[in-house]
Amino acid sequence: MMIVVMQPNASMQEKSGIISWAEDLGFKIHLSTGSERTIIGVIGDDRVINREQLERMSGVERVVPVLKPFKIASREFKPNDTQFSIGNHVIGGKDLIIMAGPCSVESRSQILETAHACKEAGAHILRGGAFKPRSSPYSFQGMGEEGLKYLAEAREQTGMPIITEVMEPSLVPLVAEYADILQIGARNMQNYALLHAVGESQHPVLLKRGMSSLIEEWLMSAEYILSHGNTRVMMCERGIRTFERYTRNTFDINAIPVLKQLTHLPVIADPSHGTGKWEYVESVTKASVAAGADGVILEVHPRPEEAMSDGRQSLKPERFAQLVRDMKAIAQAVGRDVPVAERVPA
Ligand code: PEP
Ligand code: MN
Repeated sequence: MMIVVMQPNASMQEKSGIISWAEDLGFKIHLSTGSERTIIGVIGDDRVINREQLERMSGVERVVPVLKPFKIASREFKPNDTQFSIGNHVIGGKDLIIMAGPCSVESRSQILETAHACKEAGAHILRGGAFKPRSSPYSFQGMGEEGLKYLAEAREQTGMPIITEVMEPSLVPLVAEYADILQIGARNMQNYALLHAVGESQHPVLLKRGMSSLIEEWLMSAEYILSHGNTRVMMCERGIRTFERYTRNTFDINAIPVLKQLTHLPVIADPSHGTGKWEYVESVTKASVAAGADGVILEVHPRPEEAMSDGRQSLKPERFAQLVRDMKAIAQAVGRDVPVAERVPA
């Protein structure tokens, strides 16, 4: 990929001149229109691009090759943070986004009760798995479409947009019908057929880091989604597998500043899966906010001891409410904020 940085005053004609020149040569184009200047990504076999010729074309300021294996995801291609709206919330801006809810949708009453409690405590988006990627085939696999229907009912009642996992390409249209954000689980980070499918869907995506994935591999997975023109992708750090056993995973706090440097995509922290134990979730959530995360996704359950999955790492609503207050204080200390959600109408 070559990045063509246009002059700040380049005309529409000059921009389309570059685009048709590249398209005629069989290259794909990705446009990034910033407030100051337009950047045109020319994607294809770099070796056949004549850089000097391109640099002499009218309106072009400079041409830079992107050497990293991820291109559209890179800061070189798009220097400014990606921001997009989900419901009334902007993700990737000054305000942090808080997603909360149970690991799994277990019943209609469970998800409705938890949704109201999360909303009351300050959550912006409701999480809940209907299709569950369980390590054992004998564990609870989720409620499937019935679970999606209960999530949609919870959204209707609380006004909170919903995020839920999709595990296979054939189910993307169904899950996208219900969900505001599609979650790609850690176990599917390199399921390329699934990445293509969610890319094509043009639906917002939360891409979890694979259990043993390099940040570079994770960004290349994001690239699969972005390559379909789907720009609404969030990166979610959920811990990686290390030799340590007192925690379920090792939350890689480093990933937050590393991603902030390498990519313009919003970064979300998942301290629930990152630690595996509720008593560590609060510390790691606060650390993530201090480190520059754009939001968090947290598991909350009214009765964690009865949860059908991940009860050990689920916060009770009261603790979650206190954590939201702490997050706000830390966010403000680092120049961010946590918007207070409107109260649920009685
Ligand atoms: C989940 O969010 O409940 C989940 C299964 O997460 P992960 O894919 O990170 O393990
Ligand atoms: Mn879980």
